[in-house]
Amino acid sequence: GGGGNVRVVVRVRAFLQRGEPNKSRRQLERRAQCLIKMDPITQLTMLRAPDQGVTESPMSKSRKATEDKKFTFDNSFWSHDMDDAHYAHQEDVYNSLGEEFLDHNFEGYHTCIFAYGQTGSGKSYTMMGTPEQPGLIPRTCQDLFERIDAAQNEDSNIDYNVRVSYFEVYNEHVRDLLVPVVPNAPPNYLKIRESPTEGPYVKDLTEVPVRSINEILRHMKNGDMSRTTASTKMNDTSSRSHAVFTIMLKQIHHDMETDETTERSSRIRLVDLAGSERAKSTEATGARLREGSNINKSLTTLGRVIAALADPKALRSGRRKDIVPYRDSILTWLLKDSLGGNSKTAMIACIAPSDYDETLSTLRYADQAKRIRTRAVVNQDQIS
Ligand code: ADP
Ligand code: MG
Repeated sequence: GGGGNVRVVVRVRAFLQRGEPNKSRRQLERRAQCLIKMDPITQLTMLRAPDQGVTESPMSKSRKATEDKKFTFDNSFWSHDMDDAHYAHQEDVYNSLGEEFLDHNFEGYHTCIFAYGQTGSGKSYTMMGTPEQPGLIPRTCQDLFERIDAAQNEDSNIDYNVRVSYFEVYNEHVRDLLVPVVPNAPPNYLKIRESPTEGPYVKDLTEVPVRSINEILRHMKNGDMSRTTASTKMNDTSSRSHAVFTIMLKQIHHDMETDETTERSSRIRLVDLAGSERAKSTEATGARLREGSNINKSLTTLGRVIAALADPKALRSGRRKDIVPYRDSILTWLLKDSLGGNSKTAMIACIAPSDYDETLSTLRYADQAKRIRTRAVVNQDQIS
């Protein structure tokens, strides 16, 4: 819907349970009411204005929060209470989004799935998950190798080559997460380059070949540790850094009859964005503003990029290329193709059940993303 082809889905999590790390938020939620309703048939998501009397409005700073708001997305994932018949498990999210995107990758398309939302809304849970409840990334990897193994048993004329990379954008710097952190060594920031054929890319980024799900999981775990190692030093990095996990799939097919070899290359990009609450410049003052100005840049620019791509007037005037400010931040520059070019793209808007202002802002953001059109093509070459 919305005139675009970017797939936009929304997922609401449960109230935080005892034993979960964020204590202050957990305490806030103990008194809170769930403001989200979802209709599993129409995929309508409703944000109810908080009942001021009952909650004393602990989660809403806005006095204007008196209206119910309605949004419709391609999917509304209800992960609030497990007793509900329509509860969306990790598996359900994979089955209705991840699986289809992997189909596209085997057809030769680039894809990108990114998770947007405030800190604590469930982005990492949805993308990475836990060992018991694996998210989209490990499920995609598992399915990928199952398909490759099945295909190779069937057809000996096709070869597969899989490589992965993992980096984070923190404070407008790119850090390779597959390079082990050396204690007390200066950080190794990577530069961005742009190639006429491949577009923007990270120079010298580690790309490791992987042959099994276990190899991939090992790299992913190391990468996450590298992200967390830094975060204990730098005060809550994971809510301020954007993590980009990329799988490169190459399918080399040799046709025995014509003796032709064709190669299909697709890129699977899975992005866990920084917390969206940092993007709101209105709230940042003084020290927070100084500290946040750089940190926010990629996320605020992402907002401007999405707004520019979603603006139908800008699209019609044909000046689209000039006005989309991709190059204003590291993240948007690197994701240029995924946002407005050769990619099939999905956004998962993650929301907390009781935070009216943040949730409204996320839902509006997601609503705008529905209007974006990308132009994906099959990436196939005859190589001999
Ligand atoms: P974010 O990455 O957006 O900051 P997290 O993914 O870390 O948020 O989620 C915050 C907390 O909520 C974590 O403890 C996570 O395990 C839990 N959580 C988030 N979404 C769900 C869900 N759908 N089901 C169960 N627990 C969830
Ligand atoms: Mg996270």
